[in-house]
Amino acid sequence: MTEPAAHRPRSLSGIQATSDSLHLGNYIGALQQFVEQQDTHDAFFFIANQHAITVDQDPAELRARTLRTAAQFIGAGLDPARSTIFVQSHIPAHNQLGWVLECTTGLGEAQRMTQFKDKSAKNEHVSLGLLTYPALMAADILLYQTDVVPVGEDQRQHLELTRNLAERFNHRYGKAFTVPEPQILKATAKIYDLQDPTAKMSKSAKTPAGRIDILDEPKALAKKIKSAVTDAGTEIAFDREAKPGVSNLLTIYSSLSGRPVEEIVAEFEGRMYGHLKVALAELAVEALTPLRERTLELLDDPAELERVLHRGADAAEAVAGTTIADVYDKVGFLRR
Ligand code: ATP
Ligand code: MG
Repeated sequence: MTEPAAHRPRSLSGIQATSDSLHLGNYIGALQQFVEQQDTHDAFFFIANQHAITVDQDPAELRARTLRTAAQFIGAGLDPARSTIFVQSHIPAHNQLGWVLECTTGLGEAQRMTQFKDKSAKNEHVSLGLLTYPALMAADILLYQTDVVPVGEDQRQHLELTRNLAERFNHRYGKAFTVPEPQILKATAKIYDLQDPTAKMSKSAKTPAGRIDILDEPKALAKKIKSAVTDAGTEIAFDREAKPGVSNLLTIYSSLSGRPVEEIVAEFEGRMYGHLKVALAELAVEALTPLRERTLELLDDPAELERVLHRGADAAEAVAGTTIADVYDKVGFLRR
């Protein structure tokens, strides 16, 4: 018999609604872990539409992308009966706690976040929200008394801040929060851009050529993999420093096939980069086609998706409501 979900450690994570399709980095670094955790954890996964507006978004596009992201969660294997799937803005307690945590965070602390530095350098107009985003992210996590947060490497620093804020608050006002642990899988925590294998694959990257979107048409997907930048030399070997391009392809191959990198390197011994690309293109098409088809099918029935998100919001609100009531009492807000 499986253990009731409520007795398991709680897992929570989110993905921003910032593109029409998630990319392979989101899938391998985050979503695949979400799917695994729904059998071992009390799982909460949300679509971060509020984080999305830290940079400019078109309203109609943001609404559509919120549903598209939900469809991809389910298309990739999240089961609404086993995971609580919800939209960040449906739960006002994220903002309520976000404000309290903004007042718990030092200005210098927020300014030190490398993601803030990177994204503010890329955008002409830098919103205050881009700076305070990590406090809202801490609220997303701490509201749910989360034990583990499955994320990619780029979120490590934000998770560290979340832990510090939880400890700081608990110390000052009495225990309100579980201090969460990040779950960052070493091998797959950072998938790189296929055209620039030293940069993270990103939804907000300038050109889509180096990004594999999980909803790419099979032909386009295969083409992108076949035109991936590789390295000097001819030998297929895993070496992040000397062969970043090939190492990235090997990481993706390993993750999609569930086989260790060494085994793949051995299989391709004496063969050329082109062989690896052709095999990977085939594997990726095979792995992503069912996901893509399920997602497109789900998108044909937006009313059903909205019902799933509505039920998710009800379940999430029950947990979040308890935490925010306790936090409001602890900071000294007069009850209504
Ligand atoms: P944006 O460019 O809009 O920030 P993003 O591609 O970074 O988009 P997010 O929604 O910010 O995607 O991140 C969702 C999850 O995917 C996070 O857990 C993040 O760590 C993970 N992730 C993002 N990019 C990668 C990547 N290249 N490799 C592994 N994990 C990644
Ligand atoms: Mg990001």
